[in-house]
Amino acid sequence: MSLRTYPTGKKRLRVTDTHHVSSLGKIGEFGLINRIRKWASSAAPALVQGIGDDVAVMEMGCKTLLATTDILIEGIHFERSWMDPYRLGKKSMAVNLSDIAAMGGTPKYVLISLGLPKNLSFSFISWFYRGIKEAARRHRVDLVGGDTSLSEKMVINICLLGEGRKKDLLFRKGARVGDELFVSGTLGDSALGLKILQKKGLRGRPHRLIEKHLSPCPRLQLGQALAERRCATAMIDVSDGLLSDTRHLLEESGVGAMIWENRIPLSQSYRRTSHLYSKDPFHMALSGGEDYELLFTASPEKREKISSLSRSFKIPITCIGKILPKKKKLRIVQKDGETYSPSRLGFDHFR
Ligand code: ADP
Ligand code: MG
Repeated sequence: MSLRTYPTGKKRLRVTDTHHVSSLGKIGEFGLINRIRKWASSAAPALVQGIGDDVAVMEMGCKTLLATTDILIEGIHFERSWMDPYRLGKKSMAVNLSDIAAMGGTPKYVLISLGLPKNLSFSFISWFYRGIKEAARRHRVDLVGGDTSLSEKMVINICLLGEGRKKDLLFRKGARVGDELFVSGTLGDSALGLKILQKKGLRGRPHRLIEKHLSPCPRLQLGQALAERRCATAMIDVSDGLLSDTRHLLEESGVGAMIWENRIPLSQSYRRTSHLYSKDPFHMALSGGEDYELLFTASPEKREKISSLSRSFKIPITCIGKILPKKKKLRIVQKDGETYSPSRLGFDHFR
């Protein structure tokens, strides 16, 4: 066993390898984030929401600042062989815009840091920024800075700043027992699109699923409308997968939930294709990530308001479940009425 010493200001902290018995593989991505959350605990009075939601929320004078950051790494999040630079730029923006959407906020400024291999062509970067600019133009965001470094693989880190009205913002922690659970759009398309890409490359069919993976559409206007019209009690975007993101929302709210599998919205393309890639027709809709749809809770009397938003934005919104007391945890009701508590939730970087 080796002994290592890490400097910590005044004291010197001795760290042995036994300290590392919990490897990242064991604690997982979300176990790690929970520990970082404890280390970071801040009592700054202007901090409305630190680690634990889609964005951090800070009061800045009379405004409420929203801040979010995401990293995309070549070989982990994308492959240059099937992700053209224009779509890569747009998607890098979309994953961050989706976090602002999940609060019902308005994006404002973006900083972009890049790690770039030396052999990357200038034209690749130029098209990448065209994608960034297109998303920025559409959502009225200004590119105001970033950082650039040499790297073996391409690394993209985006930091997006936005604003919102504190009383309208929708946090993960607002769900109450008796609320209903809703989701926008359809689920599983992006994960299935990725499977098709991995197997068949860009010539795979149906192209609509591949496109959903390469060009997700953040639900900014819907998120803002749900917040402004006080339709929802809690909200999160589906980036890690329905089960995983539902679990995040339930943990922050201190509640449980029931989800009816046969109510989960599936696209025609998904229904026609998923059996070629998975025996369980709901597998990718439950556990696949990157749909960037909105998952939210609302009290039953908001149903009519929610249907009217769905009609005016032409985005399907489906009630898939119900919020229960915490002791019920998360339960899935299958077609035959049998229920189960999912053990594997979805994508975790270290598991
Ligand atoms: P999302 O899927 O919405 O991007 P994540 O699951 O990545 O959210 O993160 C959950 C929470 O943990 C967020 O509040 C995020 O800011 C925080 N977080 C994630 N990684 C780190 C880190 N390395 N250091 C500090 N906070 C982190
Ligand atoms: Mg999020």
